[in-house]
Parts: sequence; C-alpha cells; structure tokens
Amino acid sequence: MGKKYLIQYDRNNCIGAGTCVAADPDNWSMNDDGKADLTNAQTNAATGFLEREIDENELEKMKEAAQGCPVNVIHIIDKESGQKII
Ligand code: SF4
Repeated sequence: MGKKYLIQYDRNNCIGAGTCVAADPDNWSMNDDGKADLTNAQTNAATGFLEREIDENELEKMKEAAQGCPVNVIHIIDKESGQKII
C-alpha cells in the first residue's frame, strides 16, 4: 500500500481561475456557481474546508493543481508525517 495524502480545499476563497481543472481534470471540475469542485470531497465541520483523501498515485497531478492555484486554497498534507506539502 502506498502513502495517503489529505487534500484540504478552502472553497469559499476559490476565485474560479480554473487552473486546478486544467491540471487535474479527474479530481477537479468547474461548478455553475463559478467555483471549482473537488470530486468526492466532504466538508469538515470544524474548519469549513472540503476534504478528501488521495493515494500516492494521484499526488503528482494534485500537486500541479495546488501549485497552480493563484490564491493557494488547495493544500496537501502527508498523512504519515502530518506535514503540509503545499
Ligand atoms: S485553481 Fe484555485 S482559484 Fe482556480 S478554480 Fe481551482 S481552486 Fe479555484
């Protein structure tokens, strides 16, 4: 089994630039409200962020999405170490 990563997405602050969708269309799509949706994400009631776990094989594309986001609302946490990668 590979490593697991937690995605945290602060959807409220998404400006709809669409870079994430271009980088990783399997996991990101544009909603009619002008903001991006993270596929299969669930809201964390404590933080208000949308969250979703991914496998190691999804990491590279997710990193591209997160690094390309102009307002840095996509974060990736290494679940093993607890370290924030982005
Ligand atoms: S790249 Fe960032 S601002 Fe642009 S749609 Fe994706 S999450 Fe929203």
